[in-house]
Amino acid sequence: MTKINIDELFRKRPLIIAGPCSAETEEQVLGTAKLLAESKKVDMFRAGIWKPRTRPGSFEGIGIEGLPWLQKVREQTGLPFCVEVATTKQAELALAFSPDMLWIGARTTASPVTVQEIADALKGTDTYVLIKNPINPELELWTGALERMLRSGIKNVGLIHRGFSVYGNMEYRYAPMWHLAIEMRRRNPDVLMICDPTHISGKRDLIQSVSQHAIDLDFDGLMIESHIDPDCALTDKNQQITPGRLNEILNSLIWRKEKSTEPQQNLALQQLRSQIDQIDDELLQLLGRRMSVADKIGLFKKENNITILQPERWNEILEKEIDKGAKLGLSPEFIKSYLEAVHGESINRQNSVIYEGKTGNK
Ligand code: PEP
Ligand code: MN
Repeated sequence: MTKINIDELFRKRPLIIAGPCSAETEEQVLGTAKLLAESKKVDMFRAGIWKPRTRPGSFEGIGIEGLPWLQKVREQTGLPFCVEVATTKQAELALAFSPDMLWIGARTTASPVTVQEIADALKGTDTYVLIKNPINPELELWTGALERMLRSGIKNVGLIHRGFSVYGNMEYRYAPMWHLAIEMRRRNPDVLMICDPTHISGKRDLIQSVSQHAIDLDFDGLMIESHIDPDCALTDKNQQITPGRLNEILNSLIWRKEKSTEPQQNLALQQLRSQIDQIDDELLQLLGRRMSVADKIGLFKKENNITILQPERWNEILEKEIDKGAKLGLSPEFIKSYLEAVHGESINRQNSVIYEGKTGNK
């Protein structure tokens, strides 16, 4: 069996990590890993042995007993393995079994104290670490966890986008909030970022479309939960898929490249982009003009003692614009968030005019 070059693997695109949510038995772990390895599409095996569950009373992981099973996966299939650690103790125990990579789970990323303790425990090692986004939509916590690892001298750190917990979200188990992952990527362009479509989806039939969406957004890879017998899984059973189904999904995905190598195609794209740039310039000019009018309205309201917001007028604008937008092929959701941003800024400007006597005019 060829020796695993983890450094090369960390830089491989796409990087595909798969394996069960939890290690349950040696047979389940090895049986799943063998099928995943046979597919030749999976680069790394994952399994949780300590499971941070939101509520008590369900399977919380097999514990240290599972670590030798993961070593057997590596010996018998050649797949390197990664495992989640949520405390210093777990990190120390895991390191004794030479994992190829560790990951920090969403509930742990939300706790800077714990992240710091784990970062301290990893200091001086050359461990590879992936950090899941925190369970709540808070980029600073995610960024903080990344910084804590980097400051501890851990050079090989990557990120996993697994969606965010929001109250009342129905379609997904965890709302993808793609814009947050995109922003994290913009801030850290050189850091590996993979997507975990499994936890975003929460159910099997969404995994393929969420994976394709991640690829279309140029993620560096995927982490997908796969179990030899998902219906009998002790954790996350609704979202785990068999290695066979995983293979089908991976075969069906269209991997796009960031840039074309064809000069003709690049030129065509460049022309379209310059149209977009031109339109963006025009939109900005118009927005600037709109805000100057808002300042004048602010002044008028101040002089005549009129409230800044009139809910009736705001409803009227919303309805009218949503209607017009629909005729132009623009979705009501887009029109609503666009108007909320513009209208919110308009209110801020009027506030400044009324209370600080300022206008944005230069
Ligand atoms: C997991 O990967 O099984 C897991 C517990 O994930 P998360 O931390 O994203 O909930
Ligand atoms: Mn899971």
